[in-house]
Amino acid sequence: MSDKPVIVVTGASRGIGRAVAVELTEPGAVVVVNYHSKTAEAQETAAAVEAKGGVPRLYRFGVGDEEAVKEAFKQILQEFKKVDVLVNNAGVVRDNLLALMKVAEWDEVIRTNLRGAFLCSQAVVKPMMRRRYGRIVNVASVVGVTGNAGQCNYSASKAGIIGLTRALAHELISRNITVNAVAPGFIETDMTMRIPEKFREAILDQIPAGRYGAPEEVAAAVKFLASKGAGYITGQVLHVNGGLYMG
Ligand code: NAP
Repeated sequence: MSDKPVIVVTGASRGIGRAVAVELTEPGAVVVVNYHSKTAEAQETAAAVEAKGGVPRLYRFGVGDEEAVKEAFKQILQEFKKVDVLVNNAGVVRDNLLALMKVAEWDEVIRTNLRGAFLCSQAVVKPMMRRRYGRIVNVASVVGVTGNAGQCNYSASKAGIIGLTRALAHELISRNITVNAVAPGFIETDMTMRIPEKFREAILDQIPAGRYGAPEEVAAAVKFLASKGAGYITGQVLHVNGGLYMG
């Protein structure tokens, strides 16, 4: 088994996931770039990983699809024998007021954001336990703690991610596996650029830093939690939000 790390980042074709994949890349590291539909963007991530000396592998699957997740991780584990780091980053929004929310909007967000993290974590836990090493970092959100009007589905999924993080941290720390979360505030990605301008300005007024965050600033926090040196930190939620919320 190679001593080079094997890193899996879900939703790595764009935004925060891409920044995480690139930031975690070190020469010789295998970086699995998962994505859902945007192949050209995923290829750009792979090229950036390669430019840093990493070994990218593109894996297209929906993280909420049990069979697809099982098959993908079977292949990854067959080829590379281990996963050192899993970053559960894939996420979607389907915003609506609860009174108007369609069941499909609720289900899709929970399926991707929460069930996806459950399925991918389950796929790596046993091999990590056997090796007595692993780092799982889940991407939550500030609204998983504060809530946000129009985001009952998304807030519930991210609060769920925090519960999953803490419960799994309890299960795994005796095997030298840590499970932590980062909770971004408002980060400049496709997800937030879809918010209408007038709402984006109102959000900006509430951020003490006076600006949106960059995906790289979330990636830096993920890199720390995924590092060997963070081995005594588990079950934590690291907020990356420019002072918007201080938990
Ligand atoms: P983004 O730019 O919209 O990118 C979303 C990523 O998730 C894409 O790579 C997308 O793949 C992938 N994805 C979507 N559904 C998927 C599925 N079913 N299976 C696998 N991959 C899937 O979002 P982002 O802003 O970078 O957000 C990344 C994470 O950070 C999410 O969990 C989000 O909730 C969280 N977050 C973001 C912010 C923010 O302000 N941006 C704040 C707090 C938390 P395709 O490109 O193939 O569609």
